[in-house]
Amino acid sequence: MDWNTLKGLAEEAEKQKTSLGNLVYRGETEDYDGPELDIYERMKQNWLVMKEAVHTGLNKPQKSRGGMIGGDGAKLHIYANSQKTLSGLIIEGVSRSLAVAELNAAMGKIVAAPTAGSSGILPGVLTMLEEKLQPEEKKIIMSLFTAAGVGSIIAQKASLSGAEGGCQAECGSAAAMAAAAAVELSGGSPTQAINAVALSLKNNLGLVCDPVAGLVEVPCAKRNALGAANALVAADMALAGIVSVIPADEVILAMGNIGRIMPETLRETAKGGLAQTPTGIKWQEHFSKL
Ligand code: SF4
Repeated sequence: MDWNTLKGLAEEAEKQKTSLGNLVYRGETEDYDGPELDIYERMKQNWLVMKEAVHTGLNKPQKSRGGMIGGDGAKLHIYANSQKTLSGLIIEGVSRSLAVAELNAAMGKIVAAPTAGSSGILPGVLTMLEEKLQPEEKKIIMSLFTAAGVGSIIAQKASLSGAEGGCQAECGSAAAMAAAAAVELSGGSPTQAINAVALSLKNNLGLVCDPVAGLVEVPCAKRNALGAANALVAADMALAGIVSVIPADEVILAMGNIGRIMPETLRETAKGGLAQTPTGIKWQEHFSKL
């Protein structure tokens, strides 16, 4: 079996008539010396921290450490629940992702999935789907193994680091991981899950890392918000049977290549992009005087 490609994983899962999550979980337990329960329980702990982060982010909004952001997730959550939104249920997942990313910027407790900067996307998407679909908890935990499997292959073949590959590697990867988990949670096939990865990641290719004043606040939190929307739309497209012309494994390689040629100014150095707009520079000057 080919553990190094999403295609290999999906083919094996289809052959065994199991989910990607089950396959990844079994692979993890084979490489692990301790009791099987430990791996499951550790993932469950991650899930509980994600849920708590959504709750705290929505109900106890705080200003970020730098003071540039805070409270928008809660604002959007109220809007999502009180008005007809233009983007339907998606905006509920988006509000939660934003709230968790804001919590991260306020030094709250989050799960780096795959990184702290992109920590809002999976919890926002999955807690919204938990309410909508009401699956057994075990199904959600297994969908997190699916996300982990996708993240692990991206880490091997490209990168999960903004400093190395731009925000496509952080928020782009998190959205791709969430898209696959969302497909699995919604009853889609492993092949549909990896198609969601391709559809999601394709549309984040080239996304630069340009944090204002070098802080993980602006544009990071809003990129988490839009990352959640991307994940949910990609999952719906894959569930509808849409197939990415460029397969997921090739999209991942393309992402790695783009990261390698991305200028250093756009890889977390705060020397380009939004960080160097007049407003970005004003914030930078503000912090340098503190
Ligand atoms: S802009 Fe950079 S620091 Fe911010 S989330 Fe994206 S990769 Fe992380």
